[in-house]
Amino acid sequence: MTTSYTDICENTKLARENALFGSYDTSLVYYQGVLQQIQKLLVTIKDAPRRNKWQQVRSEINTEYEQVKDIQNTLASFKTDGRSGFSQHDYGSPFDDYSRHEEPTRDPDVWPPPTPVENRPSPNIRGGVQRPAPKKYEPSNRYRSKPSGNTPDDRRGRYGGGGGGGRPADRGRDNKGKEKKVEDGDEKKFDPAGHDKGLVENLERDIVQKNPNVHWDDIADLVEAKKLLQEAVVLPLIIPDFFKGIRRPWKGVCMIGPPGTGKTMLAKGVATECGTTFFNCSAASLTSKYRGESEKMVCLLFEMARFYAPSTIFIDEIDSICSKRGSGSEHEASRRVKSELLIQMDGVAGACAGEDSSKIVMVLAATNFPWDLDEALRRRLEKRIYIPLPTVEGRVELLKINLKEVPLASDVDLMEVAKVLDGYSGADITNVCRDAAMMSFRRRIKGLTPDEIKRIPKEELNMPTSMEDFLEAKKKVNKSVSKDDLKKYEEWMTEFGSV
Ligand code: ADP
Repeated sequence: MTTSYTDICENTKLARENALFGSYDTSLVYYQGVLQQIQKLLVTIKDAPRRNKWQQVRSEINTEYEQVKDIQNTLASFKTDGRSGFSQHDYGSPFDDYSRHEEPTRDPDVWPPPTPVENRPSPNIRGGVQRPAPKKYEPSNRYRSKPSGNTPDDRRGRYGGGGGGGRPADRGRDNKGKEKKVEDGDEKKFDPAGHDKGLVENLERDIVQKNPNVHWDDIADLVEAKKLLQEAVVLPLIIPDFFKGIRRPWKGVCMIGPPGTGKTMLAKGVATECGTTFFNCSAASLTSKYRGESEKMVCLLFEMARFYAPSTIFIDEIDSICSKRGSGSEHEASRRVKSELLIQMDGVAGACAGEDSSKIVMVLAATNFPWDLDEALRRRLEKRIYIPLPTVEGRVELLKINLKEVPLASDVDLMEVAKVLDGYSGADITNVCRDAAMMSFRRRIKGLTPDEIKRIPKEELNMPTSMEDFLEAKKKVNKSVSKDDLKKYEEWMTEFGSV
C-alpha cells in the first residue's frame, strides 16, 4: 500500500500546530506517525537522489520530534503528581516503533495501535448472564489524572459490561496476547481509577448504553441504508476474520442527511443487531466548557470502547466538533478535540487492521451539515451514506409503526395519509401521528373540569383517530426540511458520497 504525500504533509502540519498550541502529547503522536510514514516510503524509493532528499526530511522531522519530546520531558519533570507525566515508554524511538508495529497491509492513514490493554474479555451487554468478580482494568498513560488505585471507592461507578450478540462472550486475552478462557459469567468492569472521576461519571451517565434495543424492524424504510450499514459495520463485527487486509473495515462510517430521518435509530439498530456496547455521544456530551477536558473525554471514550470491544461509538452532530480547520468558529480547544479524535480513529483502524479481531471498535457518525465537516475527518469517515427523507412506502411504514397502539376510524387510508405527507421526515411524521392521536381526546375533554375528566370512562377517552384528524394535524406540523436543503445534500453526496 502506498504512503500518500498529502497525509505526510497534513500530519506534519498537525504535529507542528499541536506543538505550537502546547498540545505536546498530541503533537508527539503525530510526529511519530509522520516518521513512520516516511520510513515506510523510504523502503519503496529506489532512486538514490530522491531517497537522500527524503532521508533529509526524515532527519529534520526527527529533530523537531526530539525537540518537542524534550519540552514534554521538561514539563513532566515539573509535575509532582504524575498527572500527565511523559513516559519514555510512550514515546520511544519512532523507528523502533515502526519495526515493532508495522504490518504489510497497513493503510498509510493508520497509526500505531493504542497502548495495549491487558485482560480484556469481550463484552456481555445483554441480560441473562451471571456476573462474577470484576477484572482489573489498567488504563493507558495518556490523560491519567493520578496513579491507578483500586480502593472500593475508586471502583464506585464502574461501567457494566455489554453482552452477547454475534460474538462469543467468554473469551479474554492474557498479557502475552494469547486467548484465554474467562470463567463462566465473568463481567468486565471499567476501572475509573487513574482517570478523572468526573469525566468517567459523565461518560457513564450520558454515553454508555448497554442495550439500545432498537431492531431493524423498528426502523421504517431505509432499506438501502440498512444494507450498507450491514456490510460496513455489522458484518465486520460478526465475522471479523473475513474483514482483514484489503477488506479491512472502514475507518469510520458517516450517515448524512436531513434531521429526523432516522440516523440515530440506525446507529442504535447497528448496536442492537451486533450486541456491541453502544457509546452514544453527541457533540454536546463530548465538548466541555472546561478547557482541556474535551480531548481527555475523547481519549477516555475510545479507551473504554476498546476495553468493552467489540463496541460501536456513535458520534452524533459530528460537524459541531469537527468543523473545518481554520474556519472562523474554530478555536484552540476544538482544534485539540479534533486532533484527538483523528488520532483515536487512526488507532482504532490500526487495531482493526491488526490481528486481534475481538478489539474491533466501529466509529459511526452522523451529521445534518456535511458541508461543515473538516477535510481530515471527512477522509477518515471513509464510507458516507445518505439517509434520505422517507419514500411514500416508507411513510406508510412509519405511520404503521407510530400508530401501533392507536385505534383508527374506518375512513383512515394510510396510503392517502402518506401521500399528503410528502416531504415530511420520520420525526415530522411521528409528530403528526402524536397530534392526530390526541385530537379525539381533546374534543372529548373540551370545557370539562379536571374532576369531570377523571370520571370519563377509559373507552371514551381512547376514541378512534379519523382521516380528518390526520389532515388537521398535518396543518399544524410543518415540514422541517426544505427543497433547497435537499438539493444541498444531493450536491454534497454527488461530490463526496461513497456508496
Ligand atoms: P436523526 O438522528 O436523523 O436526526 P432520529 O433517528 O433521532 O433522527 O429520529 C427522530 C425520531 O423520528 C425517532 O425517534 C423516530 O420517532 C422517528 N423516526 C425517524 N426516522 C424513522 C424511521 N426510519 N423509522 C422509524 N422512526 C423514525
